[in-house]
Amino acid sequence: MCYFTIIVFNGTIECMSNVITLKLTHAQEAKLYEAWSENAKTPPQYAKWQLKCENCVITCYTSGKTVFQGKEANVYASPFMEEELMQPKIAVKDILPQAGSDEVGTGDYFGPIVVTASYVSKENIDFLLNLKVKDSKKLSDEQIIQIVPKIIQKIPYQTFILKNKEYNLRKSENMNMNQMKAILHNKVLYELKKKNYPYQYIVVDQFEPAFSYYKHIHTSTKKVDDIFFLTKAEDQCLSVACSSLISRYIFLKEMNSLSESLGINLPKGAGPMVDEVAKKIVEKFGKEKLNEIAKLNFKNTDKILSN
Ligand code: MG
Repeated sequence: MCYFTIIVFNGTIECMSNVITLKLTHAQEAKLYEAWSENAKTPPQYAKWQLKCENCVITCYTSGKTVFQGKEANVYASPFMEEELMQPKIAVKDILPQAGSDEVGTGDYFGPIVVTASYVSKENIDFLLNLKVKDSKKLSDEQIIQIVPKIIQKIPYQTFILKNKEYNLRKSENMNMNQMKAILHNKVLYELKKKNYPYQYIVVDQFEPAFSYYKHIHTSTKKVDDIFFLTKAEDQCLSVACSSLISRYIFLKEMNSLSESLGINLPKGAGPMVDEVAKKIVEKFGKEKLNEIAKLNFKNTDKILSN
């Protein structure tokens, strides 16, 4: 049961009240408590537990109700509200204007991770459908190189390139891939949102539960917290499809310039071809070079350096 009122108005979700009350399952209660247990305080009367998080106090009552109270109540409650509030899950693809984000490069040993958020309004539909953006998964790299320059002339977007050096540094600090992705998606969405285009939805191609996503970015002072998470979103949402194509295009450009600077053609993916080429690079430039051009935590690194 949700007693919380939201109004979608010109692209902002406004809480009429900063109190959200939800009836969670025991499993959800346990998950919530576990995630923020370091903030546990002595619970008030009739409460099982209370968490005093930043900008939100969460109280779980013996009656079965959980109350989120404070400026960021929606950030903490939203992962559990999805089923109730995000009913138009199937229809979301048709609701424009919309911003959406997607990333590439996370499965490629060589080259950066590229994350893009783009903004699509109703006026862009025909233009994008003509370019076959809807079939983004079926487009070849050659086709992507043809059509993306047209897209980026028309569609507002924001991209961030996480270079390998930075990636390897974050990895050495034990940051996991999903946390890295969450931070990057948040970054491009925040920058795009700053431009104040009116929108109905912000969609992220889902790579982890909403709950974990928000946990990963909770310390950020610049966060986008009204996201609609959708799996396989690039097949359904033009905004996410555009983001996927733009990311891929920029990734290909980066791979090309890396290849040119090395004088060796870098293969995509993480297969045996990659190991073969990487060995040549190590021979020519030394193993330190890998830190600049590859994701060192991949299993490939051991294979490459073992003989
Ligand atoms: Mg994706």
